[in-house]
Formats: sequence, C-alpha cells, structure tokens
Amino acid sequence: MANLGMLLDYEWCTGCHSCEIACQMEHGFPVGKTGISVHTIGPWEIEPDSWQLDNIAIPTKQCNACVDRLAKGKLAACEHHCQAKCLHIGDMDELADSLKEKPRQALYHLT
Ligand code: SF4
Ligand code: SF4
Repeated sequence: MANLGMLLDYEWCTGCHSCEIACQMEHGFPVGKTGISVHTIGPWEIEPDSWQLDNIAIPTKQCNACVDRLAKGKLAACEHHCQAKCLHIGDMDELADSLKEKPRQALYHLT
C-alpha cells in the first residue's frame, strides 16, 4: 500500500503517549525508539482566560504506517490504542478531505 498518511486532531490529543507505547510493542522497538513521538506545546497564557496548550504526535522515520496490519484489515497499532480517537492512518487523499473539515489538525504523508 502506498500514498498513506497520518491525520492527527490535536484539539483532542491528551498527550497520553499510548500511541508511542503501542508502536514500540507492535514493532519490538526498545525504549527510546519509536515510530511516533508526542510533544506538548505550552502552557502559556495568550490573553486573560486564553491559553496555549496542545499535544501533538509526530511520526518519525521509523514509522512504516503499519502496512502489515493494514493489509490484514486491522487499524495501525497507534490508531487502535488511541483512546481519544484523534489519530488516523489511511489513504492520503481521504485524509486530506478530512483535514479540510476542521482546524487544529495535522496531516503527515508517510509513504
Ligand atoms: S502507523 Fe504503525 S509504525 Fe507508524 S507510528 Fe503508528 S504504530 Fe508506529
Ligand atoms: S494521539 Fe492519541 S494515543 Fe497518542 S498521545 Fe494523543 S491521545 Fe494519546
């Protein structure tokens, strides 16, 4: 499978790191090596009662889009374990359509 991407809705990402752990478990990566890395931006105050605080997951070069799982009709390991359901792996064109539907999302082209 090619033309795969990762769409993250960082409005809802809790920064729980489950995606990182799921990726490490799925692929047998040691501690410190992962196909996805979660980062927190903030917190800082923008104006009274308005704060910058976002968690955002970023795929690394180790990410192979879980092509073996997708070929079996399964979800990617990170998507399967994301409790917030804010991370999706799939066809780039379909994800690009979803990207247009709301702000505060990020789309990565994986393969
Ligand atoms: S798609 Fe698979 S390889 Fe890529 S980050 Fe998610 S679990 Fe890791
Ligand atoms: S993308 Fe999902 S699993 Fe990963 S840190 Fe955000 S909420 Fe947790």
